[in-house]
Amino acid sequence: MTETVLSIVPDMEVPDFLVREIQAKLAYVDEAITSARVSPGVEGIELSLNGPADKTTTERLSAKVNHLVEAMADGAFEPRLSVLEDYLDRPTSFAADPMDELYKSREVVREGSGYYILGPLLSALIDFFAERVVDAANQFGAKPYRFPALISPGYLERVKYFSNFPHSLSFVTHLREDMEVIEKFSEDGCCKDGLVHAADGSYGDPDAMLSPTVCHHLYMSLTDSVLPEEGLIATAEGNCFRYESTNMASLERLWNFTMREIIFVGSADFVGEGLEKARDMMRQTLDDMALAYKVESATDPFFIGNYRDQAAYQSAFELKHEVRALLPFKGDTIAVGSYNRHKDFFGRSLNIKQADGEFAETGCIGFGFERLAFAFICQHGFDPNSWPDAPSAHYRRLSEGWHSNNAPDYGDVPSF
Ligand code: AMP
Ligand code: ZN
Repeated sequence: MTETVLSIVPDMEVPDFLVREIQAKLAYVDEAITSARVSPGVEGIELSLNGPADKTTTERLSAKVNHLVEAMADGAFEPRLSVLEDYLDRPTSFAADPMDELYKSREVVREGSGYYILGPLLSALIDFFAERVVDAANQFGAKPYRFPALISPGYLERVKYFSNFPHSLSFVTHLREDMEVIEKFSEDGCCKDGLVHAADGSYGDPDAMLSPTVCHHLYMSLTDSVLPEEGLIATAEGNCFRYESTNMASLERLWNFTMREIIFVGSADFVGEGLEKARDMMRQTLDDMALAYKVESATDPFFIGNYRDQAAYQSAFELKHEVRALLPFKGDTIAVGSYNRHKDFFGRSLNIKQADGEFAETGCIGFGFERLAFAFICQHGFDPNSWPDAPSAHYRRLSEGWHSNNAPDYGDVPSF
């Protein structure tokens, strides 16, 4: 297939503060786009395409790109960034992109676009961090929950996930309950280039979705309820799914990742104080990991039509803060965790009341384990002996109990 590059100068300039967001959204603009690079101001947008940039393609893409830029930039105002913590100058001991090495040692195996197997090194590191989040949850007396990987489409629609994040939804379906359809699939169904091919009409409409986050399940379970006077604190770990199209690369941006959250439901003060205290606890753990990071105000990646107003709302009330870890090989940062307030959005949408009759407020902290582990390896490398003391000791303790500390003699990197 011919790869071509197309430059488009949109009618409206891309403001600096929207470069990252518009770049991420370009992946969803057209199936011909394989990657995009956005420059601020009048310089324009460079698109890599999986085919020729003929006249029809150019016109189609120009129109779509202009629509995207206008929808996101028209009337947008620059959010006021507030930095709550800044430890970006913490010394790090590694500077390379670790992915090649991780693939070679099969510490990371790519199963498909955006989903990976993690080996013992990364798993032990995640175990160290996950234990710390559980410790923090226990200090709050958080109640444990277990949530399914699937989530109800009816619920997601009710809390406006369909309209706010349609681009990242993951649909679940199955063969229709029809013997002929099932027999035909068992005979002819095949997988080619990572895609399942089945006869037209083999699947029904999706009747489940893959859950994009953890705390939604708790809010769903609280629908039509009145909270105890003292509010509710819960914790759970879960698989999360966000389809990130061509932005999915390495462990930085996954389709399937895991996260532990601590979730607060109650009055505004209860939620606010809980999040503050949780941030204090996490600061100690991130310090023990010698992680270079900052905590900065942020907005969620709403889809284009909803982006401006929703992001402005989140930003005006400072509802979201991200823990952004340094990736030294890129000279950039990536969000490894977040502190979120939703005010009474879920309380109102799901009729969750406080004991005094007011709608409940909600908030959560969540850390994505794969990203956190990736950022840590980017900063401190693969050798647990040269890691900071606490994760290094955890690795040693775990690995001493393993049946073997030798790795198999691997052949070429597998691909399915
Ligand atoms: P959010 O709910 O968007 O604030 O995300 C919470 C955390 O989940 C982030 O800070 C990341 O650690 C993780 N996360 C979110 N999206 C992804 C993704 N596509 N791939 C890997 N981790 C992610
Ligand atoms: Zn949450």
